[in-house]
Amino acid sequence: MCMVRSHPFNVATIHDGEPFFMSFTHFSDLTPQHPDMDAVQADYDKYADAITNAQEPAAALEAIGQWDETRKRLGSWSSLVRLRYRQDTTNKTYKADNDLCDEVWPKMVALDNRIKQAVLDSPHRGAIADHFGEHVQDLWTCDVAAFDPSIQDDMVKTSKLNNEYTSLRAKARIEFQGETHTLAGLGKFSLDDDRQVRYEATKTTWDWFEENGDALDEIFDGLVKTRHKMAKALSNKDFVELGYRWMQRIDYGRKDVERFRKEVQTHLVPLTVELRRQQAQRLGLDEVMYWDEGIFDLGGAPKLGGDTPWLVKQARDVFKKLGPETDHFFSTMDDCGLLDLDAREGKASGGFCTAFPDKEVPFIFANFNGTHGDVRTFIHELGHAFQYWSSRKASISDYLWPTYESCEIHSMSLEFLTWPHMESFFGDDAERFRQTHLTFALLFIPYGVAVDHFQHMVYENPDASPADRHAMWKEIEELYTPARKYGDIKRLNEGALWQRQLHIYGAPFYYIDYTLAQTCALQFWSRSLTDPAGAMKDYTTLCKRGGDAPFQALARSAGLISPFDQGCLADVVDHAAKILQSA
Ligand SMILES: [Zn+2]
Repeated sequence: MCMVRSHPFNVATIHDGEPFFMSFTHFSDLTPQHPDMDAVQADYDKYADAITNAQEPAAALEAIGQWDETRKRLGSWSSLVRLRYRQDTTNKTYKADNDLCDEVWPKMVALDNRIKQAVLDSPHRGAIADHFGEHVQDLWTCDVAAFDPSIQDDMVKTSKLNNEYTSLRAKARIEFQGETHTLAGLGKFSLDDDRQVRYEATKTTWDWFEENGDALDEIFDGLVKTRHKMAKALSNKDFVELGYRWMQRIDYGRKDVERFRKEVQTHLVPLTVELRRQQAQRLGLDEVMYWDEGIFDLGGAPKLGGDTPWLVKQARDVFKKLGPETDHFFSTMDDCGLLDLDAREGKASGGFCTAFPDKEVPFIFANFNGTHGDVRTFIHELGHAFQYWSSRKASISDYLWPTYESCEIHSMSLEFLTWPHMESFFGDDAERFRQTHLTFALLFIPYGVAVDHFQHMVYENPDASPADRHAMWKEIEELYTPARKYGDIKRLNEGALWQRQLHIYGAPFYYIDYTLAQTCALQFWSRSLTDPAGAMKDYTTLCKRGGDAPFQALARSAGLISPFDQGCLADVVDHAAKILQSA
């Protein structure tokens, strides 16, 4: 449930010196070409000189425009290479291309930063801000402070370690009930109606995590130490400071996040304990165990009405009903092969939305397994993709996506704004799906801040051992998810749940974003109950803005209260709890 945009930890920009995509008709027509770094260097020298020597603002703006076109082509190349590797981690060519991307992208970050610095130093800086707005220069100030060529080798090293994690998980082949499954495929049994099946599937999954525990610990240890080293090389106190810069957090900081986590502890954690108690009562259990968590009543998990092609067909109808813009958007995604939805052997875990900026189209990658989660994932990623589609003609690439916490407003809010159409996917189970979804939204926030708090502890204590980190996670669970019960599953009791969380390995500090966005999405949900048309209108207007402002400014422009404002979280939680109790 995430998206991938240009960022120090995941996207390279590489150039072969000439446009390499012909006009776009179908995803299968896209073929990556290897970059010519000499040509890239020459182009960037030209752009930097033109900006530095510009006599008039117009000359600097022209060079920025040319640089941006190049960035878009390079961004599309890296998106394609990284996507294809994740589509088939066993393909040697895809792997080699991805490795090349990992090798080259720190050099590209350095080249991009040179242009950004030239703009920031330009006497025409004010006129450039008049053209694009101040925000892009705030982003670039952040980027320039977050990188130095001296950390290039360590950036490549962290990409390699993250690829090891991706590949280790993708290689997993697990025997269960007489068949061989991938980790993603095994996930569907965690929602089985039969409690014993749920337990055994969960146990089998975590046996795999236990068997691979040393490797998972070792990869993470390497990541933590390398990230800390990079932070120190850039004169940061710790990697938390650098991580915030990498996340381009402009209008809030560490103290605001800490205060938000405390509000979650005060206003939400007690409610989640009560929700689990009520869930146990409905299920006729003494207590909800870890393997029961996804089952909210005796009817079992809400059932999908069909397989993936059916789901896509239903979604096409729903997006048509939502309006002509969403209709055009969805038809393009489906007709142009921009959806890769089913789990399969060799495919990387997870789900995300990426994009090809010079083609002005997004792409959705997922691992559907036939459960109701497929609808949530699909709508979520479609929210990211629709935002990208809506802002695809932004004045500069930096505004194609907003920063991550704002991105997740689009995805998580669309999950709620499509509530009236859930009958299309679930028939008579739709109301149970809505209840499940709302309950899950509330239960998720404490887990989300736990992941964030854990990472703060980890990077504030870079010399901790793997065993220390597991102890930290247990301490964090006591604070945020005290109702969680792991029974006799050894690895989970040892404090290893976090090792399933892709973000902790590959995208440090990309997690509080979901909880901030969920707090915003719940406001859209609350408003949609009385004013669905107004909520949808503000949502689409927000999508069209892309990333032309920082998080709190974007949220407020859509009529939302910032999650950092006193009382915001308490109010949305209170409303959701009342609706759940009245159901
Ligand atoms: Zn997302």
